[in-house]
Amino acid sequence: MSQDQVEQPTIPYGMHSIDESDIRAVVGVLRSDWLTTGPRVEEFERVFARTVGATEAVALANGTAALHAAMYAIGLGPGDEVILPPLTFVASANAVVMQGGVPVFADVDAATLLLDPDAVEAAITPRTKAILAVDYAGQPCDYETLRQIADRHGLVLVADACHALGASLKGSPVGSLADLTVFGFHPVKAITTGEGGMVATLSPDFARRIRLFRNHGITTDHHARARRHTWEYDMVDLGMNYRITDFQCALGLSQLGKLPQWIRRRQALAQRYTVAWNTLPGIVPLAVREGVEHAYHLYVVRLRANVLGVDRAHLFSHLRHAGIGVNVHYRPVHLQPYYRKTFGTGPGLCPVAEAAYEEILSLPLYPSLEEETVDWIIATLQAIVKAPTSLSVVGCS
Ligand SMILES: *Cc1c(COP(=O)(O)O)cnc(C)c1O
Repeated sequence: MSQDQVEQPTIPYGMHSIDESDIRAVVGVLRSDWLTTGPRVEEFERVFARTVGATEAVALANGTAALHAAMYAIGLGPGDEVILPPLTFVASANAVVMQGGVPVFADVDAATLLLDPDAVEAAITPRTKAILAVDYAGQPCDYETLRQIADRHGLVLVADACHALGASLKGSPVGSLADLTVFGFHPVKAITTGEGGMVATLSPDFARRIRLFRNHGITTDHHARARRHTWEYDMVDLGMNYRITDFQCALGLSQLGKLPQWIRRRQALAQRYTVAWNTLPGIVPLAVREGVEHAYHLYVVRLRANVLGVDRAHLFSHLRHAGIGVNVHYRPVHLQPYYRKTFGTGPGLCPVAEAAYEEILSLPLYPSLEEETVDWIIATLQAIVKAPTSLSVVGCS
């Protein structure tokens, strides 16, 4: 093995669950006449909307396409600004840029790493069009305050809830808290369609615009034209092919039924990690706000190197060597080369996110992860902290 080849971790940080009922659902579609733009797409959208407390949901090819479509739907144009946190996957900011918009990075709260409403307020200019909140790790943002700010300044409130399917705030599900809420179904997310995404909304107009954008800016699909016995169609705006297949949506429907049990499982495993840190000072879980039902897409801790006696890089490499697929979510987007060169962003812009980036570590968390494995991960972490110079690792039974 060459030096730069890295061994595949044996325990990933995130992982899908597929069972026989999922497989049967997909195969059923493959045996049918509808592979795309058919009944399973509509059914997935209908059930999904109900699940997340929305009236409309539009399924798309992936979460990034869903974000892009949301930016189209709000009428984002060249020079329009969207305020978002830097502690997110690059796709959140990229979607703004794809519509010609300018991403304006506002800092996060130090305890939760969620978008800080005061920082949002301070970033508003006459060009601000929208707030794009990110439910980092699966915890809903402070939507009550963000809603007040959005209303006061006439802004659209969009949620990147790719981490937060199944989460809620004071009993209201994520999907009902913003004007548009975006979800993704990549295999590491709460449910999977392989690749897939969704925008949920309470606005029929936003939903219509997203459907238009999903289908080349054409007002009808080929099924609608067949029903009306016409070959004519109107392309009224520039759009994409961001459609999703019926077999993906059949998988999504089958997965959605298991979401509540999977969220409970993620919460229980997260609690198991969190309890362990009581005897491991220097490992600090993120704060969870009052009234939050957390979806725990990620289990993130902050590592205080001065307390632990070892730093994040050391822990990261030793855990990886032990076969534990830890990860770092995320390098702040404003520090990415593309954003530095295109928008002149750089260090100092969001000091809270930048400081957090030096300390954060995502530990494995997914529904099929066993309690014993969580305990072994905790023990391995403990052993590395206690013997920082040795490479020794406790055995996995
Ligand atoms: C996964 C993710 C996306 C993009 O979703 P894809 O389906 O991978 O395109 C966007 N934003 C966040 C925060 C994500 O975690």
